[in-house]
Amino acid sequence: MSTYTHYDLTEFGKPLEKVTGDIPKPTGKEVLLEILSSGVCHSDLHIIEGEFDLGEEGTMRMADRGMKLPRTLGHENVGRVIAVGSDAEPSLVGQKMLVFPWVGCGTCRACKEGRTNDCMAMRIIGLVQDGGYATHMLVEDANLLINVDGLNPNLVASHACSGLTVYNAIGHLGPVHKESWLAIMGVGGLGLNAVAIAKAKGFENIVAVDINDSNLAAAQDMGATAVLNSKNPNPIDQLREITENALTDVLDTVGIASTVRLSVHVMIKGGRYVIVGLHGGDFKMPQPWLPQKAMTVRGCHVGTIQQLQELVDLVRAGKIKQMPVQTRPMDQVNQALDDLKRGKVTGRIVMTNEGLKN
Ligand SMILES: [Zn+2]
Ligand SMILES: [Zn+2]
Repeated sequence: MSTYTHYDLTEFGKPLEKVTGDIPKPTGKEVLLEILSSGVCHSDLHIIEGEFDLGEEGTMRMADRGMKLPRTLGHENVGRVIAVGSDAEPSLVGQKMLVFPWVGCGTCRACKEGRTNDCMAMRIIGLVQDGGYATHMLVEDANLLINVDGLNPNLVASHACSGLTVYNAIGHLGPVHKESWLAIMGVGGLGLNAVAIAKAKGFENIVAVDINDSNLAAAQDMGATAVLNSKNPNPIDQLREITENALTDVLDTVGIASTVRLSVHVMIKGGRYVIVGLHGGDFKMPQPWLPQKAMTVRGCHVGTIQQLQELVDLVRAGKIKQMPVQTRPMDQVNQALDDLKRGKVTGRIVMTNEGLKN
């Protein structure tokens, strides 16, 4: 592709704008990718809106968190290296790479310990740095790239965010017992990957909970043991019955009052409740239950590049069932975001650049 086209957020709350220009040139350690696939993530909707709902604390505005516009969004990217700067390895050219977007500051304690996802000054690609809703993307250092030669880029792209997020979260669940149950709250892009990864990690009894029957059907296809539409009457009783009163673990990819309530009611003593969803509001539960139920509640955010490499290795080994993916040409990114907002997407939409070979 001889021109550089990118889709930028120029104003919060507005559709992305198509911008064209000269293809950027990598300098120093930089690597230039031609974008093959870029997954459309639910977080993009929050980023475009420019705020997260903090319940009684008000809102968190992206502008106050250092996000400057215009910005090319897109943080689930696979591209082919087409040029490198003078300080980067020339043999990278031609390789197909998954981009780790959760870039840390590199100097804080979390970063030094390899936990860049716990960095307080992250420079996230597609948020603080330009992302992959584009024909090309510059990546600051090849150490943010994972080789995915031989894998389908449309299928592997979403692991950079949705796959990695639930891979990290699942590591905080368990141990796995034959009698115990895992509930996955919300089976959109995150939750479907969670079903696949939880199965690969040995969870046998998995119940998927959602308000959308087509999402639940997809979860069943992915290997969920049982499903529950939480719009049904008495979801608390129903979930207790499905899990034979042995719900030990919950992975919440939604994170709203109703998923919190359902989870803390049904989990048995000693349960673990891991929340990755960012839909917003307040976390409320009866305080005595925390000690009385000996409950662990924790959140986690995305994951590390080591974890992303582990996940890609599992994909290569054929251990992770692939969730449904639909591809669309890059110039339809606003429509894709709109469909996601309206809940019309099962699995993941992945934007592609026509004319590029996978
Ligand atoms: Zn994401
Ligand atoms: Zn840091």
